[in-house]
Amino acid sequence: MTGEPGISLWDATAREVDPGSPLDGDVKADVAVVGGGYTGLSTALHAAQRGLSVCVLEARQIGHGGSGRNVGLLNAGLWLPPQDVRARLGERLGARLVDILGDAPAYVMSLIERHQIRCELTRSGTIHAAHSPKGLRDLERRVSEWERLGAPVRLLSGDEASRLIGSDAFFGGLLDARAGTLNPMGYVRGLARAAKAAGARIHTGVEVSALRRNGTEWTVETGHGNVSASKVVLATNAYSGHLWPGLKATFVPIDFFQVATRPLGPRVAGILPERQGLWDTGTIMFSLRRDAENRLIIGSMGSLIGGAGGLSERWAARQLSRLFPSLGPVEFERAWHGRIAMNTEHMPRIHRLDQGLYTPIGYNGRGIAPGTVFGKAIADLIAGGDEADLPMPVTGVKRERMPGLKAGFYRAVFSANQVIRSI
Ligand SMILES: Cc1cc2nc3c(=O)[nH]c(=O)nc-3n(C[C@H](O)[C@H](O)[C@H](O)COP(=O)(O)OP(=O)(O)OC[C@H]3O[C@@H](n4cnc5c(N)ncnc54)[C@H](O)[C@@H]3O)c2cc1C
Repeated sequence: MTGEPGISLWDATAREVDPGSPLDGDVKADVAVVGGGYTGLSTALHAAQRGLSVCVLEARQIGHGGSGRNVGLLNAGLWLPPQDVRARLGERLGARLVDILGDAPAYVMSLIERHQIRCELTRSGTIHAAHSPKGLRDLERRVSEWERLGAPVRLLSGDEASRLIGSDAFFGGLLDARAGTLNPMGYVRGLARAAKAAGARIHTGVEVSALRRNGTEWTVETGHGNVSASKVVLATNAYSGHLWPGLKATFVPIDFFQVATRPLGPRVAGILPERQGLWDTGTIMFSLRRDAENRLIIGSMGSLIGGAGGLSERWAARQLSRLFPSLGPVEFERAWHGRIAMNTEHMPRIHRLDQGLYTPIGYNGRGIAPGTVFGKAIADLIAGGDEADLPMPVTGVKRERMPGLKAGFYRAVFSANQVIRSI
């Protein structure tokens, strides 16, 4: 591995640049946004387009969180199948959320087109691959419900999956034609560029240290100046710290690592030939995709362990040779991980933390399209909309039980999985 460990492939290859600049002194705005990922920047873009003054404060760089580190599967819906979403939220609200998130990839694609975001978008769908007969039964249940709802989702036979993936390792799959893949850092930087062009201020390297309310006005404190605003959106998701009491305890932080090969040229022509990205039905799921330069990018739950030739690279080499025995040895170029915010119900939440202070949080590993549409919905609310029109009912903070203990347990299980599956 030649790349700096931990720097994502997307960071190194995105063709959009980070448009952030330092903050120097106090600012007054209608809306202060904390966090420069999809949620924060979509809020900023849509609020600025509605004529509001917006100031985004990002502690590190645009896309430092999950938005610059993910797999880039632009998926529809949630991690849960539609019928389970309705069971949790109730028929009316559940059906509305399923509709909104079913259309969400198309909305992201329209933003990419409108703002000419250079993020290597593909539109050929994604594959949820069955790792076992039980996994296939789960996919059948998902497909029958999506079909009933009229969505362009279909079940792949073992042979079809084998042709579309280039591997005989799967029992079938679910092909969702609404979905696609993208360079996640390209998309988030492009959103930032669009938000800035619409008038939002985008400040990077600015960590928010405190939030104080005086009547209807908030003071957002940083070491570089304060921002006063009547509305604040905390868009810090899995990277939430102690800024708001209890917020960090609303999810269990789970790492997901990825390892990218060097460009492999014609050797990978038969692997994902139509360029769908995939993830599997395993409990400790893994992901696989190609990028525009014909690298293979494979990942799974857990942290990156070891540098060049280390455990995660050995795991990746082993999985690639298991899936594609004729591929031969590959060299790796980059490896990194990011943090996912999981919660018990596997659904994102929107909390009203205080008057004028909102946080969409807990995307459970599916946040590209949901983060974008939740950000837009929050902007619509701030611009004079109604809470009842948000995609999810607004709730107060709901703590997970023993999130630290659960995170430690999962970390141990995922590390053991890497060890076992690298042999
Ligand atoms: C490895 C991985 C793979 C994933 N794969 C997919 C996928 O294929 N498809 C999909 O749809 N979703 C995927 N996800 C989920 C998706 O990436 C996230 O849900 C999404 O990026 C969340 O966006 P966000 O804007 O809410 O938060 P983030 O992008 O995490 O942004 C939060 C930001 O807040 C900043 N911040 C935190 N505290 C402060 C502070 N005090 N002051 C200022 N800034 C602060 C952080 O620096 C960070 O940049 C994946 C996630 C990971 C980690």
